[in-house]
Amino acid sequence: MATTYNNLYLDIRQQLRQSGVEAATLEARELVCFGVGKSRAELQRDGGLYASPELERQVRELVERRLAGEPVAYLIGEWEFYGLPLDLSNDVLIPRPDTEVLAEQAIEYCGEIGECRVLDLCAGSGCIGLAIGAQVPLARVTLGEISDAALKICRQNIRRNGLSGRVVPLRMDAMEKPDKSLGEFQCVVCNPPYIPRGDIDSLDSSVKDYEPRLALDGGEDGLDFYRSISERWRDCLTPGGRLYFEVGIGQADEVLRIMRGQGFGDLQIVKDLHEIPRVVFGTLCAEI
Ligand code: GLN
Repeated sequence: MATTYNNLYLDIRQQLRQSGVEAATLEARELVCFGVGKSRAELQRDGGLYASPELERQVRELVERRLAGEPVAYLIGEWEFYGLPLDLSNDVLIPRPDTEVLAEQAIEYCGEIGECRVLDLCAGSGCIGLAIGAQVPLARVTLGEISDAALKICRQNIRRNGLSGRVVPLRMDAMEKPDKSLGEFQCVVCNPPYIPRGDIDSLDSSVKDYEPRLALDGGEDGLDFYRSISERWRDCLTPGGRLYFEVGIGQADEVLRIMRGQGFGDLQIVKDLHEIPRVVFGTLCAEI
């Protein structure tokens, strides 16, 4: 039987709710909009019109995949971070609200220093660097990524947000020493892969089966990237420049120790929205 857009939406919302999806309202709207190719405003406007069986089938297929565990962000190929619409693919992590804490801290700092160069290492979708670029008009941002597929997403997101003039993508490997020609940055931000390798298989299916392993695997104890970046990348900070890390649950103290051991001072830990220590940052002490 033919159904109107609005009834289709209500039906999907009900189905998601019954399956225990927490954000059923938001997810139903995203899936229906994407499945029928309408914006939110168009869906509202056309709510009373009948959806073609073909469109309905497309929506129901998306819902099946969602209920099988695939995250909505990947199904619709985009997500919002710090108010920016971002393209996504399975080659990059879905930007998390927790990561906005890191972006917020770095934005505050960069806003204070004015003209500055910022490096977002392990950029993924580019979410952190793009948020800084969008919020700090005097910042020039480099998005560093090892994965070509992720760099492609970075490029799309730079263009999508009109930041081509001040944000550039560049291939780089956080586990190697940077090329001298990179120059110096006042601020380096990084949300590296930080899951201990042995823990990956016990993660939620929505993460371990859909998100890129490369973006999760932090080595044996999950701290490989913190060690490498604090040591190998410190020289691309100007003396007095800052390094900001996002950390996994229970990693803050260890990361703070790693940074201290590499000559960072004024170290601070910032909690996320759930009161979990989530960001560690410090200042590279000037050589005496
Ligand atoms: N910087 C990206 C993010 O915060 C990707 C992080 C990663 O790949 N570990 O989502």
